[in-house]
Amino acid sequence: MILFIDMNSFFATCEQQYNYYLRGRPVGVCVYTGKYGAIIAPSIEAKRFGVKTGMRLNDAMQLCPDLVPLETNSGRYREVHVKIMNVLRKYSGDVIPKSIDEAIVDLQHHKHLYKNLDDMKRLANQIKEDIRGIGDYLKCSIGIAPNAFLAKLASDLQKPDGLSIITPENIDEVLSRLKLTDLPGIADAMSNRLINAGIDTPLKLRYADPAVLKVACQSIVGVYWHYRLNFSEVDLSSNPYKNMQAMRQLSREQRASPESIENIFIALCMKLEKRMVAQGVYCKEFGMNIAYQNGQRWKYSSKNAPIQEGTVIYHTLKAQLDKYAKEHGGKTLLHEGIAGIGINVSDFVTADVLQVELFEDNVKKDHLRKAVYDLKDRFGYDKLMRAMELKEGHSAAYQDLIGFGSIKDMYNEEEWVKNGNKIQNPED
Ligand SMILES: [Mg+2]
Repeated sequence: MILFIDMNSFFATCEQQYNYYLRGRPVGVCVYTGKYGAIIAPSIEAKRFGVKTGMRLNDAMQLCPDLVPLETNSGRYREVHVKIMNVLRKYSGDVIPKSIDEAIVDLQHHKHLYKNLDDMKRLANQIKEDIRGIGDYLKCSIGIAPNAFLAKLASDLQKPDGLSIITPENIDEVLSRLKLTDLPGIADAMSNRLINAGIDTPLKLRYADPAVLKVACQSIVGVYWHYRLNFSEVDLSSNPYKNMQAMRQLSREQRASPESIENIFIALCMKLEKRMVAQGVYCKEFGMNIAYQNGQRWKYSSKNAPIQEGTVIYHTLKAQLDKYAKEHGGKTLLHEGIAGIGINVSDFVTADVLQVELFEDNVKKDHLRKAVYDLKDRFGYDKLMRAMELKEGHSAAYQDLIGFGSIKDMYNEEEWVKNGNKIQNPED
């Protein structure tokens, strides 16, 4: 079973926690508090006056003249978020932060600890108490259900400070009180499609034929709605990419040149970085696999904090190769007997899971990396480089990589290597 924890009016409540004066008052958290600023988070009190997320501050002040506009303090919210996640992790190893103020606690691996609904209700109340221990003004709504979607739906049923449960026994009664657009993930467009197919209530959605739903939604998404409302799990599936691998067979010329081998080694690491950036994932494990012409292999893998940087992977692997050489009287693993090199990354976490846990610096770095790739894609791979790419004396190697990066989309890379045995910038 799943617990879904949703903090009530999170940003505003954090401000009220921090400043006693704000408690009980309508508060509107804004990025900018000038006349044209917009409310990004109204407090529970402000919501009672009709103040909504996205409303212009000017309009909100007219609805609620006592509204206290405040600028955001993102560091404050992140700090509370981290503390809340730590509370949740006391009770389950499977905690999935969904946003800065929402998390899923998956209890399916803790069946011996939480045997029945009463145990889970006790846990939910304990979590509420622990969160009040972080800050006495912090409130959350908790939903309990057999899958993540229904747990989220349950957490929406009672606000603030709610605790709701959806079971096979009460689901029909719960759904009968709701409109289609009350279901998280159903907005007007989807709702209209369903209504056009004669499915105009959540209850009808639950009992509709999956095949009909697929047609109505014009995609497999329709079938997911059938699963969600009938207790199957479709929202906790992990990233479809279990691992990524970049491999290269080396030609005779490449084998003979230590510089070529090094270039290919670096290119493979950077290629995986590019793919991880594209997929928005970070690896918690990476490794290297060198195949030799005599059939021997050398393998290494390393577990680490989530990373995306190809340069970090390269330097970590390089350090292992250097260590091997040191221990073997200077005998390098990257010699002319090599047949191929493979680098792999695995055990991914996604950016959205990671970002809320990270400090701002890292988030900025992630944005920077993405922006760098966008610019390279637009203007050419050699137009923008990281200083370290030059500083470390690898400019030549990266030049090759750069060329390879930009041809990747134009040619079959294996073919390219086979034909020319050289990685060069096609624009040269
Ligand atoms: Mg919330």
